[in-house]
Amino acid sequence: MSSPTLVRLRSTSFGYADRTVVSGVDLTVRAGEVVALLGPNGSGKSTLVRGILGLSTRQGGDVELFDTPLDEFDQYTRLGYVPQRHSLSASVRATVTEIVEVGRLPHRPWWKPQSRQDHAIVREAIADVGLADRAHEEVAALSGGQQRRVLIARALAGRPDMLVMDEPTAGVDHANQEALALVLHRLADRGTSMLVVTHELEALERVVTRIVCLDAGHIDFDGTPAAYSDHLRRHAVGSDHHHPD
Ligand code: ADP
Ligand code: MG
Repeated sequence: MSSPTLVRLRSTSFGYADRTVVSGVDLTVRAGEVVALLGPNGSGKSTLVRGILGLSTRQGGDVELFDTPLDEFDQYTRLGYVPQRHSLSASVRATVTEIVEVGRLPHRPWWKPQSRQDHAIVREAIADVGLADRAHEEVAALSGGQQRRVLIARALAGRPDMLVMDEPTAGVDHANQEALALVLHRLADRGTSMLVVTHELEALERVVTRIVCLDAGHIDFDGTPAAYSDHLRRHAVGSDHHHPD
């Protein structure tokens, strides 16, 4: 039996107004996969992952989440999302715990955990990202990298089957990069599926099961890390010797 399908795009396009940024993409992510989405700046990576979550305009094709058309999908906590640009500094007065509590029921942001179990899950999510000792501090007192970890904890508090992360390690200092890589390794060990936009593939080498490359809105590679190394090598050789393909 094959693993459940978490995300399925069929000839899907996304864009802004009359501009198409991602065109005719086919992409399937199955349970247990950790997919790294690579590509140059401006190639449409953020537009694509936002489109999967219904946050950029679909101009054609289909999006299905957990075998349900996106329009009918309402199990939001099954899919955790960590956006590329975060806006935690706007919530200056909120503590780490208060931010992560929102992730327990994202469509009711005023909600506070009531049950002992909810409290425990929130505490565990904060511990998972290595911020247990900062749980009651205001997020404004944390560094950018630590705030990024708070956002991951917020996504984890929903106990998602899948995490979608847009450049979680970009612009983050070395210590925080290592902490983030550790979080992703732990999640992968636990069987959480992931779609991660990244420029730092080396840090995730051990967890990534598949690599997808986006170039100017088209997928130009989709395969295993081994096939990707091969692809890169052939590409380099090909440019020297007109290697036949
Ligand atoms: P990446 O994440 O790969 O760097 P993006 O998806 O952010 O790429 O951007 C792809 C293209 O879409 C870029 O040319 C960018 O300028 C454009 N774009 C991104 N967001 C918007 C928006 N909100 N409105 C109009 N164009 C946008
Ligand atoms: Mg981006």
